[in-house]
Amino acid sequence: MSKIDSSYDVIVIGAGPAGYVAAIRCAQLGLKTACVDNWSNRLGQPSLGGTYINAGCIPSLSLLESTRLYHIIHHEASSHGILVNDIKLDLSRMIGRKDEIIENLNQQIVDIFASNNISCIHGHGRLMSPGQVEITRIDNGEVSVISADHVILAAGSKPTEIPCAQIDNEFIIDSNTALNLKDVPKRLGIIGAGVIGFELGGIWKRLGSEVILLEAQENFLNTADQQIAKEAYRLYTQLGLDIRLGARVTSAHKGSKKVSVEYQDTDGSHSLRLDTLIVATGRDPNTENLAAPEADLLLDENGFVHVDENCNTSLPGVYAIGDLTLLGPMLAHKGLEEGVSVAEQIAGKENPINYSIIPSVIYTDPEIAWVGQTEQALRAIGDPIKIGVFPLKATGRAQAIGKTDGMVKIITHADTDVILGVHIIGTNASELIAEAVLAMEFSASAEDLARTIHAHPTISEAMHEAALALDNRALHLPVKH
Ligand code: NAD
Repeated sequence: MSKIDSSYDVIVIGAGPAGYVAAIRCAQLGLKTACVDNWSNRLGQPSLGGTYINAGCIPSLSLLESTRLYHIIHHEASSHGILVNDIKLDLSRMIGRKDEIIENLNQQIVDIFASNNISCIHGHGRLMSPGQVEITRIDNGEVSVISADHVILAAGSKPTEIPCAQIDNEFIIDSNTALNLKDVPKRLGIIGAGVIGFELGGIWKRLGSEVILLEAQENFLNTADQQIAKEAYRLYTQLGLDIRLGARVTSAHKGSKKVSVEYQDTDGSHSLRLDTLIVATGRDPNTENLAAPEADLLLDENGFVHVDENCNTSLPGVYAIGDLTLLGPMLAHKGLEEGVSVAEQIAGKENPINYSIIPSVIYTDPEIAWVGQTEQALRAIGDPIKIGVFPLKATGRAQAIGKTDGMVKIITHADTDVILGVHIIGTNASELIAEAVLAMEFSASAEDLARTIHAHPTISEAMHEAALALDNRALHLPVKH
């Protein structure tokens, strides 16, 4: 960790994707910057990157890739004429690989901070007043106060705890522990079939767990386009995920080496006995002890920091970004853009964020990704729309690689042809969506996509064909009469 000075241009509290990017951009703009972060790894050492690198996207993606390979070797290799005997799972090696990736990415931030002369402090930062931050060092508990013209709050979020299922970190666990299990649970329950529950469910299912997802809402993946959500439900129940909708968990208790769960649905009360239960019911902002009461930072009733559309808090020179606010979704790339935007604001540059064009991705296999509005939202508004859908299985590339599940769906305004939403389920949806985001940022029409040459054979042709399908002129689909 670096030497700490008593004053800076900018102090950033939190080194998740919002905070570390804010610190880097501030330093690039010539601002003297400090970043304080309290995350410790299992050895008690600092580990930059917040939930995204330490306990969220990166570990989840690492395990998704390992379990996907494991599943392919078990279930798909033979169809390629590859016969593999004696397949064994070394879960500790799989988790170890994931930990190495975390260490590499953490070191990458440490190196970038050092090259930008950012003071990196392993401590807990607490806003005392605008411009004053109290630091409590993690290693020795030493307390000091440092000052800055600007303070960026980027402390992130933590898993929501629910009173009916108390976390014991052994049998009833949160999403952080769920990425570090020592054994594959035989029967795994997950409360919440939102993004986290769904991603974790896929990982453990592929390693052999029986997975039961208990979701209070009647609709699966409520915020996604419901045509895509229905296809996801079909594909994942086919994989063996037991997704119970309209199932509200009312209690969960640890018995002797088992967890008993009670839930209610329209048929009444039910109980389950499980080996492990994951609670994935949302995330809460890390605002507890982030600001002293006398700082008078305005929070809402759920603890989110109140901000305006430029991430300014109620205090002068104090900004809040990332999961701490309700401005935009709780997504790493939203926080990252806010980090850049606030740094540029501080340096006197204008860089507003277009919150209406932020892509969402669910990292399952196949992936789900979307940008813009859903069909159900547009129909509710009553806007005249047109829809073009193209199934991945109609592309040569999907057939060749054996990834034929899924579709691309483009929704346009019926009068202007402007793209209002793009929704994808299928292999590499997270990469394909970038084309749709760019098109929407440039206010493209579907005709622009239809006239853009896509390399053949690629999965990206499904985007081109979906644009053609809007006018029933897709080239690799039979004509609709
Ligand atoms: P979520 O809000 O997406 O899902 C939680 C689900 O739990 C909800 O559907 C809710 O109805 C259900 N639930 C709550 N209480 C319940 C009960 N008692 N019984 C049954 N069901 C219950 O939250 P999450 O999945 O925990 O994710 C948190 C945030 O993190 C989200 O904003 C998400 O977008 C974000 N995130 C994004 C990614 C990604 O971009 N791939 C990955 C992880 C997390």
